[in-house]
Order: sequence, then C-alpha cells, then structure tokens
Amino acid sequence: MYLHRRGYDAFDCPFLNDRELLGCDSCGLLEDVDITGRLITYKSGEAVFDSGMRFEKGEGNTHVCPVCGAPAREG
Ligand SMILES: [Zn+2]
Repeated sequence: MYLHRRGYDAFDCPFLNDRELLGCDSCGLLEDVDITGRLITYKSGEAVFDSGMRFEKGEGNTHVCPVCGAPAREG
C-alpha cells in the first residue's frame, strides 16, 4: 500500500508540484486547474471563470489572497 507515496501529485500539474491548490475562507476566492492544466482563480459560488487574480506569495510558505489580503489556506 502506497497511499501516501512521497512526491505523488494527484493533479499531475506542473504548476502545482510544490504546493496544494489555495483557497480563501474570507472572500471565497478559489484556485483550480482548467482542462489544459492552467491555473485559474474564481469566486466560490460563481461561474468557474478565470478572474485573472493570483494568490501572492507571503512570508515563508504562506500565500495571501489578492482580493481581501487574508492568508490563504491550502487544499
Ligand atoms: Zn480573500
């Protein structure tokens, strides 16, 4: 059983080799990957359409929401 095989990436996406998809609990901005493997962001509850915004790298391994500035959560 290798359920937690090191280095395995469920999305097999070059953009996401180093981290999980991000989301913001504060305003609902979510990251996703479209069928071409491109990273997009959209607002939870709205149409899945790339908003063009990207989570910004904060200190250390953290990311910050580009909409409201709240710390993003992974996964
Ligand atoms: Zn936000």
